Amino acid sequence: MLPAPGPDMTDVKRYPNFIDGQWTAEGVEHWLDVVNPATEEVIGAVARSDAAIVDHAVKAARKAFPAWRDLGAHRRADILRKAGERVSANRQSIGEAMTKEQGKPLNEALGEVDKLAKTFAYYAEEAVRVLGYTAPNEEPGHLSLVEKEPMGVAAAITPWNYPVELIGWKLGAGLAAGCTMVVKPSEWTPLSAIGVIKCLEEAGLPAGVVNLVNGDGPTTGQALVSHPDIDKIAFTGSLRVGEEIFRTMGGIKSVSLELGGNCPLLVAPSADLAAAVKGAVRRSFRNMGQVCIAINRIYVHRPLYETFVGEMIAAAGKLVIADGLATPTADLGPMTNAAGLAKVREHVADALAKGARLGCGGKRPGDKPVGHFYEPTVLADCTQDMLVMNSETFGPVVGISAYDTLDEAIALANDSQYGLAAYAYTRDAGEMFDLAKKLSFGSVAINNVDAGIINAPYGGRRKSGTGFEHGREGMEGYLQFKHVRIRHRA
Ligand code: NAD
Repeated sequence: MLPAPGPDMTDVKRYPNFIDGQWTAEGVEHWLDVVNPATEEVIGAVARSDAAIVDHAVKAARKAFPAWRDLGAHRRADILRKAGERVSANRQSIGEAMTKEQGKPLNEALGEVDKLAKTFAYYAEEAVRVLGYTAPNEEPGHLSLVEKEPMGVAAAITPWNYPVELIGWKLGAGLAAGCTMVVKPSEWTPLSAIGVIKCLEEAGLPAGVVNLVNGDGPTTGQALVSHPDIDKIAFTGSLRVGEEIFRTMGGIKSVSLELGGNCPLLVAPSADLAAAVKGAVRRSFRNMGQVCIAINRIYVHRPLYETFVGEMIAAAGKLVIADGLATPTADLGPMTNAAGLAKVREHVADALAKGARLGCGGKRPGDKPVGHFYEPTVLADCTQDMLVMNSETFGPVVGISAYDTLDEAIALANDSQYGLAAYAYTRDAGEMFDLAKKLSFGSVAINNVDAGIINAPYGGRRKSGTGFEHGREGMEGYLQFKHVRIRHRA
């Protein structure tokens, strides 16, 4: 599925960029290794694209824009639908590339590929529903039309935790809207992203409509966001880089930023405790906690507290940790990189120094001397001043704390610079509506831990970002509105 490696191939396969319909290594002077986090072996290399290569890609996207815009929504929808089918046909190879570079167990990677296929199918449907409207105009003989037009050339910059799904949200929405795109995946996970672009190529996407430039943030990402001919930046990543992009993007551009989280779970007095523990374990540790909507901090009604902590420790202890290629059904693989692991260690040490109780984990599994492995970690008796309770750990660590009244728990949950997602378990109908109303987050999930679906808008409050992905709102982020006022009668 991956394109042929570049021309000056050494023992490490070098994968080219995709610009103006060609797989090309032209102009590439530096290559970045891609490493398997389970074995720490180099599995390939991609370009570190410089400003000249980025400029070439942006120019290709600009050139392709008028024809793509004017192709018509139904033809664009056909290509997106076909791309979804190609994703399904190449499910195994994209999934394996993802497990090798990102670390998530193969079955989970395959599930992510399936979601990508669904995203393309969904936006194929939405593409034909870009509907303008007439606005009430009170002047006799005047008509006000509101049209929606594609923004133009969009840059998509993505992180490594969901390497194909997050690209898919942007490509699906942007292409459906009629934009052309330049994509820069994370330097940690470029190979599965190459597989996605290959599917679009196989679906018959015209040259230049989607361009792929690989590289790191300071070189390639920076060149892309400061390029003067980009109309829209769609970024998913850390708060630090999101803030940097906001400061440095050249000129006024439309921007969507999907940034970090520090998501609470509230276990109410009437909660189904077994369901809450099951949900908490899944959403705290899945993908090694490297999820922007992971549950990072849990507030439990005091009478249930010790039972809940005990059951969390027992459930975490049963999770299977393995190289997810060798054991596709494993619950947890390695973390994606050493920097992430170092941050986890720092946050755990901080909590313990401030008085948290280590329930389980807090170390590398004894049988895994190689790879970025870490045991799922439960910390009890946590307080708001601990990093695990107020910053994004982005690892398999969860802090737990007891509360006395639900209003107190809601206040603690809302007391965060982040506002991406919140979770609650309760069997009381009144409490469900109170929680849904009072929790100030972009998504609130009650009695489940799946905060996002493709049909509903997904975005963050406060420092978790601006703009939306998913749903019609996700596509509208790639559209600009135009008011046309016609005086048809004097
Ligand atoms: P990151 O911010 O380090 O990198 C994200 C992307 O930005 C990468 O492609 C990187 O190369 C690029 N980049 C880095 N510096 C840049 C610069 N100066 N200019 C332009 N681009 C630059 O994030 P990460 O470590 O890859 O991913 C983890 C983060 O992503 C977490 O904070 C997580 O919460 C966040 N995330 C958010 C969502 C969401 O929907 N809100 C989803 C997934 C991940």
